[in-house]
Amino acid sequence: MAIQLFDSLKREIRSLQPSQPDGVFRFYNCGPTVYAPAHIGNFRAFVINDVLRRLLELEFGAGKVKHVRNLTDVDDKTIKRARDEGRPLAAVTREWTDKFHADCVALNCLPPHVEPTATGHIPEQVDMIDVLMKKGNAYRAADGSVYFKVSSFDDYGRLSRVKERELQPGNALKAAAADADEKEDVSDFALWKAHKDEDGDNSWDSPWGRGRPGWHIECSAMSKKHLGETIDLHTGGVDLLFPHHENEIAQSECCNGRTFALHWFHNEHLLVDGKKMSKSLGNMYTLDDLVAKGFSPMALRYALLSGHPRKQLNFTLDSLHAAESALATLHGFRSSLPASGIVHDAFASVFTALKDDLNTPAALGALFTIINRRSGEVDLASFDQAMFALGLDLEKTTAPKSEVPAAVQAIAEKRWAAKQAKDFATADALRKDLAATGWSMLDRKDGYSLEPLKK
Ligand SMILES: [Zn+2]
Repeated sequence: MAIQLFDSLKREIRSLQPSQPDGVFRFYNCGPTVYAPAHIGNFRAFVINDVLRRLLELEFGAGKVKHVRNLTDVDDKTIKRARDEGRPLAAVTREWTDKFHADCVALNCLPPHVEPTATGHIPEQVDMIDVLMKKGNAYRAADGSVYFKVSSFDDYGRLSRVKERELQPGNALKAAAADADEKEDVSDFALWKAHKDEDGDNSWDSPWGRGRPGWHIECSAMSKKHLGETIDLHTGGVDLLFPHHENEIAQSECCNGRTFALHWFHNEHLLVDGKKMSKSLGNMYTLDDLVAKGFSPMALRYALLSGHPRKQLNFTLDSLHAAESALATLHGFRSSLPASGIVHDAFASVFTALKDDLNTPAALGALFTIINRRSGEVDLASFDQAMFALGLDLEKTTAPKSEVPAAVQAIAEKRWAAKQAKDFATADALRKDLAATGWSMLDRKDGYSLEPLKK
């Protein structure tokens, strides 16, 4: 079965296939704006895309997937942060890029094959804007900014159905457009922003005067440079669907004269305790916030995969407790498996679920069905392949260390001995004793670790 995935543009589930003769699947995922730590809602998108990347590599071969994810390192937010801190823009974006990379490693996300930056692709962006000017899809305003003329692209709104939904007089879009007074039409968007004093040194020369690129053109230019004019898949969070992705389509298709992306995929929002994340509610958790509460990054990864990517997921601290317990079960199961043996297809149901519109909760469900059945058909290699696809690194499930009381240690020793002797009834009873003291035991192949239970 080929990988099936919902296409946000065609609004149906379709197969993913490489379109180019070289058989390389070309995949662009909008990356972070590097001015602050990414929050767990951002990481929902990156973790989902990481599972997709892993699945594509298992399907087409590791050398047959090209995954590009950009870094937005110049825009209003990055410039404001640099100005507020009195530091060069590059120093600020370097710091937050490093932090983003560290969080990605902790969450076991594979690095993209190319991670281009907006500031590293100014000439490519200028070239595209130049073509759009020459073709009559863009115009220079009096202040030196360049805008894309939305009325010049008949297909505008195909992805978001924005013409029906949003481009009505007097709606919120006008407010969103307030930064650009010089536009001929409210729906036009900036390709090039003329230099303003508050931009400081962060401007570049262009045929239209000094300035900096708009946000949307960077993804069009970087995708074109690293993946070509037509790509197989473009992904991002649902918040990017409009206007960002709609604008990318308009720019790329008018400039290149061909289809930009053959397939679009958007994951839904993450809610926290049933509410939209916001600074004022104080629920915009970062990975560090959760690690400080004693959770492992892997528990966050697991929790983020526990909901269907195309449905809103309600994140709670309880969901992290559940994730830690599930990971401990997986860890214990792994240590019970024979290290070698014939590779069975025992986890086929996990892959079937992932290939069916990236249904991660169904994949986790299938995984636990197999584990609970404990048939003799399972071997380490096939289990590890399922863990690889989900990106669950079972050696990274421990939260920061705490001091273990001697009495707790003694119960743990007894339980470990009972388990080694295959006296599972005693081992289970001792696990309950441990829980009563507020501790849980994580079994490994060659030993165990103790974790305080979280309340
Ligand atoms: Zn983008």
